[in-house]
Amino acid sequence: MGAGELGGERGIRVLVVGASVAGPAVAHWLGRWGAAVTVVERAPELRPGGQAVDARGVAKDVIGRMGLDAVVRAACTDTAGAYTVDAEGKVLETFAAEDDGGDGFIAEIEILRGDLSQVLYDATRDGIEYIFGDWIAELTQDADGVDVTFASGDRRRFELVIGADGLHSSLRAMVFGPHEQFLHHLGHVLAFYSVPNEFGLDRWLLEYQEPGRSALLRPIQDATRAMAMFYFAAADFDVDHRDIGAQKRLLRERVAGLGWLAPDILAHLDHTPDFYLDQVAQVVMDRWSDGRVVLLGDAAFSSSPMSGQGTGLALVGAYVLAGELAAAGWDPDAGFARYEARMRSMVEANQEIGRLNARTREIPGPDAEPAPDFTGDWFGELLVRAINGVELPDYTGVPESGAPVTR
Ligand SMILES: Cc1cc2nc3c(=O)[nH]c(=O)nc-3n(C[C@H](O)[C@H](O)[C@H](O)COP(=O)(O)OP(=O)(O)OC[C@H]3O[C@@H](n4cnc5c(N)ncnc54)[C@H](O)[C@@H]3O)c2cc1C
Repeated sequence: MGAGELGGERGIRVLVVGASVAGPAVAHWLGRWGAAVTVVERAPELRPGGQAVDARGVAKDVIGRMGLDAVVRAACTDTAGAYTVDAEGKVLETFAAEDDGGDGFIAEIEILRGDLSQVLYDATRDGIEYIFGDWIAELTQDADGVDVTFASGDRRRFELVIGADGLHSSLRAMVFGPHEQFLHHLGHVLAFYSVPNEFGLDRWLLEYQEPGRSALLRPIQDATRAMAMFYFAAADFDVDHRDIGAQKRLLRERVAGLGWLAPDILAHLDHTPDFYLDQVAQVVMDRWSDGRVVLLGDAAFSSSPMSGQGTGLALVGAYVLAGELAAAGWDPDAGFARYEARMRSMVEANQEIGRLNARTREIPGPDAEPAPDFTGDWFGELLVRAINGVELPDYTGVPESGAPVTR
């Protein structure tokens, strides 16, 4: 019997919005615990692109519990480490992948975001209904369920709706309020796209920095290509996150004159299949649920790429949210409350790290606060909370018993 059929028998229908990382991950666990799951993704197909994202600490445990350890490791970038270089390419600093027990700057599990999304989708597509090229146009909820009208005109009813639709979540705007209320721009912009590997990259990532901007090249599994990244400081950001043309113009303008290999990387901008640019921002909300609607991943608690933990939080949050809902017999009040209680501390630690890292990139003005001292004990403790700050309950047995697990 497929997971969806089991959920169908129980009558728990869950709509998940967004099929990147958080969406397919929570769909996996909901399906495993017996819900009938539909995932709706606005893009016409799974979105490619993005730099490597990392799984550290408890996020690695979650991947193991999903049974995906081997397949995720097989898709990893196999990056040996990172060098920072000067304009002539001379090495300034070295960070090896095995530093800090594999949980450091270059994590032991580093996978391109698009590849991770594909792995999660492949692992769930059989038991889960995926709808591409559609999105929620209207939503109303009552005590027992949520009525959804899709942009395609389709109308359906679900018991629960989970928003995993990222930093600019439309579901968040629809249910909780306008973006400005929750989105905190950290003063930086990042752009990623793949380029031909004409730079002789092997297993080492190269980064070149100037005040307020930088360029980076990362080796990927396909040795004929490399993933490029540009970073620049920007006090504000008002480019539409769906207007690729405007984003490319902004990038060209802001990194003009950048040294090292930047002009050669920029020469490929018009021909890349997977351009992605976005502001570095966090989402801070004092609650992640409203009635039968709950948010997950970047939509609820983006910690920004500056924390290096957005994907880890999405994976761990997916495990905890689905597990707590099932353990609460699918009662949204109890399940959502326990999900928040378990996740808050880890989320806040990662948001703190994201803000600290963003500060280190700022060009110091005359009144600038002193740079944080990352060698202090306080930072070690913060890192532990950020990487391992959630105890993962063992939710197995939930679908058979239908009763809350004892902890
Ligand atoms: C193309 C892309 C590239 C990225 N590259 C990087 C990177 O290089 N480094 C990094 O640190 N982080 C990157 N991120 C963000 C990273 O994926 C997240 O921080 C983290 O993995 C948590 O993911 P998420 O699933 O919560 O959100 P996201 O990964 O942002 O996914 C949200 C998904 O929801 C979909 N969606 C949006 N609106 C709707 C809607 N109204 N209806 C239905 N679906 C909708 C989007 O198309 C997307 O597939 C990228 C995200 C995307 C989408």
